[in-house]
Amino acid sequence: MRAIRRTDTKPEVALRRALHHQGYRFRKDYRLDLADGKRVRPDIVFTAKHVAVFVDGCFWHACPEHGGKPAANAWYWEPKLRRNVERDRASDAALQAAGWDVVRIWEHEPLEAAVTTVLAALASSRAPGAARRGTARPGDDDKPGSPGIPGVAGEPAGGQRSG
Ligand SMILES: [Zn+2]
Repeated sequence: MRAIRRTDTKPEVALRRALHHQGYRFRKDYRLDLADGKRVRPDIVFTAKHVAVFVDGCFWHACPEHGGKPAANAWYWEPKLRRNVERDRASDAALQAAGWDVVRIWEHEPLEAAVTTVLAALASSRAPGAARRGTARPGDDDKPGSPGIPGVAGEPAGGQRSG
């Protein structure tokens, strides 16, 4: 999903780069197949820790600060944006039901705040895969060949590069 107005630095790209530079490894745009055939594709997925991160565009996801509805064609935009938000909440609920921690970051949030939010979620992760690791070095997350995760059958996204 693409925002209408973008700066050159996409917020999710900047966030991925910052996390990668700090030694964290994750999947990007990784599809998760949840119960009832529900599929979600978070922007950043820490599969071992069961943390899913979305970077939400202010317009498309109706940010309270910048998500003002367009005056023109409100009949068109309002239901569309409302559906987006409803889908977001449904995705959150499905992920949480499957044991995922969901992190949502607005694209307007400063990068440092976004990184802090993600790291806090990783630190408080309740995922069994995270607790089993005695030495929780950041770089240990999501090594290839880690044990499969019940309820996740996404295709292997080769998204390990920093971009
Ligand atoms: Zn905003």
